[in-house]
Amino acid sequence: MCRLARFAFIAAILIPTSSLHAQGTSQPAVDPRIAKLVASISEERLQQLLQKLSSFKTRNTCSDPSSPDGVGAARQWIYDELKRTSPKLQVSFDTHQLSSARGCAGSIELRNVVAILPGKTPRRIYVSGHYDSVNLGSGGQQASNSGATAAAAATRPGAAAQAPGEPPAGGQPPATRPIRDPNIPAPGANDDGSGTVLSMELARVFAESGIDFDATLVFMTVAGEEQGLLGAAAHAKMAKDQKIPIEAWFNNDIVGGSRGGDGTVDSATIRLYSEGPEDSPSRSLAIFAQRFGALYVPSHQVRLMARRDRFSRGGDHSALNDQGFAAIGFRESRENYSKQHGPNDTIDGVDFRYLAQNARVNAAGMATLALAPPPPVVTNTRGQPTIDRRTSGYDAHLRWQPSPGAAGYRVFWRNAWAPDWQREIAVGNVTEYTFPHMNIDDWVFGVAAVDAAGHESAVSPYVLAARTPDSGS
Ligand SMILES: [Zn+2]
Repeated sequence: MCRLARFAFIAAILIPTSSLHAQGTSQPAVDPRIAKLVASISEERLQQLLQKLSSFKTRNTCSDPSSPDGVGAARQWIYDELKRTSPKLQVSFDTHQLSSARGCAGSIELRNVVAILPGKTPRRIYVSGHYDSVNLGSGGQQASNSGATAAAAATRPGAAAQAPGEPPAGGQPPATRPIRDPNIPAPGANDDGSGTVLSMELARVFAESGIDFDATLVFMTVAGEEQGLLGAAAHAKMAKDQKIPIEAWFNNDIVGGSRGGDGTVDSATIRLYSEGPEDSPSRSLAIFAQRFGALYVPSHQVRLMARRDRFSRGGDHSALNDQGFAAIGFRESRENYSKQHGPNDTIDGVDFRYLAQNARVNAAGMATLALAPPPPVVTNTRGQPTIDRRTSGYDAHLRWQPSPGAAGYRVFWRNAWAPDWQREIAVGNVTEYTFPHMNIDDWVFGVAAVDAAGHESAVSPYVLAARTPDSGS
């Protein structure tokens, strides 16, 4: 065999093929305890919780907190409900004083409600929805600029005329715009009562599961989203300052409606947004959430969106991204803009079967992540990926640090122009692996840690170091 032919032959047998894929892949195993936890999510309880939550006149952050049916009473009810749910939950207010907030007259006190289920390790996995609501005027708001741009929309005359998807009109500083009355009715059943009760129901099922999780789980209902992600931003900054190890954050905002404003119905899918670039921690988390959502809730599909959020819209996950944390945003597949940010965001717009399915998808990902070892570290102390070409110059050689609790590892790879992993192989309890004749410039590789029971971590990808402006060749 001539040299060239021999090379071709070796390449043909060694370059990963679908048969190798089939050999090396066993679908991650279903853990019956997680399946039971997922199945215990109750449509009825979601409905009971939302009935009560949306019965408060308003949960507007700028409204009078001393009103018996206002934001102060609503957050106290959430606190009390979480407290009586399980003695295992450590419930507290995460309070932040703000001297001003857009759309509010004077200073305000923000209170996120936090329920912590302690795990064996301090690494944290969050699920959240924002409990605050807003009414921008009669008939709701077509544009429905949630989150970061909401305050601008809330205080801009004619905001309701803005078409969905249009960028918010800027111009005037907030102080010159009129402040709408924050005390008018704002039921906020879907935005974001849906994400709030989803987080509260998950607090119950995780606390009652009897499972001893490795990670600490945090169920958080967030304040001040509509004024510009204030509650999430304050918590994220505090977490960064105090070096709290937030490993993952599942945010749910407007996740209860299955009928869009154009009449289209979709109760079988949910959108999941994540900040890029490709292989960012948030993208890796989104892929993970889809993988384990499909394993435990095959009747429900997570649709990955390779973008931070929708056009002109924002959500709390972005406030976490701003501090460098992995955070993803779930959004119902078909929104009804005419029901958002108005008096008609009422409970009749929420499909509880759909909301429960969305809760199950969250639970599957969170439970798997919380039982799995932490993702392997695939960088050296200088932050460079520990991947090389071996002495041959033509092989892909991957190294990683052992993850505590791992009994083995699974290596993933894909073409460098592909959005998702295409191949995977279980490689056993090793901390390096070589793919002969695979050029590291042409493929993206990643590795996940797996424990003895088969719980798999998110994938740590080998990412090209950021380019410096003068780097050449
Ligand atoms: Zn919202």
